Amino acid sequence: MPGWTIGIESTAHTLSFGLVDSNGIPYPAFSDTVRPDQGGIHPREAADHHKDVAHTLFDKLLQEYNLSVRDISAIAYSQGPGLGPCLRVGAAIARGMSSMLDVPLIGVNHCVAHIEIGRQQCGCQDPVLLYVSGGNTQVIAHLDGKYRVLGETLDIGIGNMLDKFARNQGIPFPGGPVIEKLAREWLSQNENPSLNGLELPFAVRGMDLAFSGIMTAAQRLIDNGAELGAVCWSLQEHSFAACVEIAERALSHTGKTELLLGGGVACNSRLREMCDLMASERDSTSHAPPRMYCIDNGTMIALLGHIELENGRVTQYSDSAIDQYLRTDQTEVSWAV
Ligand code: AMP
Ligand code: MG
Repeated sequence: MPGWTIGIESTAHTLSFGLVDSNGIPYPAFSDTVRPDQGGIHPREAADHHKDVAHTLFDKLLQEYNLSVRDISAIAYSQGPGLGPCLRVGAAIARGMSSMLDVPLIGVNHCVAHIEIGRQQCGCQDPVLLYVSGGNTQVIAHLDGKYRVLGETLDIGIGNMLDKFARNQGIPFPGGPVIEKLAREWLSQNENPSLNGLELPFAVRGMDLAFSGIMTAAQRLIDNGAELGAVCWSLQEHSFAACVEIAERALSHTGKTELLLGGGVACNSRLREMCDLMASERDSTSHAPPRMYCIDNGTMIALLGHIELENGRVTQYSDSAIDQYLRTDQTEVSWAV
């Protein structure tokens, strides 16, 4: 069946191809994530990885869904924000495919794609989004025709903070899921946990957040002999509470009643639980998409490309350059929210 929109995600550590059908129904993506042996992600090495795996990954997608390239009717890609070299690989593949297949090209905003896949998967109408990923941490709401950032991190993303703390303990990327496991195991052995001796700075700065201080302080607890599981638990409690606090203020300020989680850190069960609790205490609802659509994935890019195309937007080659610093509120929301 013709009419499939392909989505290419390449903002950071993951290259992913996903797709939606002609009705905008999403299908799981094929992804490959770079996992450095040592240190953090190097943008050029990640870009080389994306270039190397692209062909095989795309073939797998076509095979899995029994498609030929003739079934593709549009190509969407992440235009930003993200790491320049990684974004350029995705954009180059997208331009090449669009030109070869003679189908429309749609460059989309990665952050907005997280919102739209979440709305589609959870059936929310007009949520406040708590977007918690590796590189980004933002609270976003739709106001006056755009998704506005009401609060965000002033330094590193929350996922980045968790990954860096984990790396210092010898835990490889991605550290977030391991911290979650260590915290859960420690909690199961400590029925009445106390923050006594495990205090960390609170990350809230007005409506914004900052995570580098909390990471340094957590490392200091380890250096002073605290148990790793206890510090993981305290780190989650403090950093998640800060995110939930500004999300709650955003709900209160905008009068909206739906909270939507997005980004890789939204896979975390404790964060989901804290959001459920906060929402239920203020007669609101909290929603989290399936985990495969929380982490970076090509399907959300395909979905937003499909929506934008339905609303008449295509990207000309002359406007197809990537933008590392693309802001959530730079994208005109021409579709119904
Ligand atoms: P993204 O940048 O949205 O693809 O998400 C990747 C980030 O999500 C990395 O920083 C991971 O450590 C983090 N992450 C993934 N799963 C979890 C989890 N269960 N708990 C906390 N962080 C997580
Ligand atoms: Mg993301």
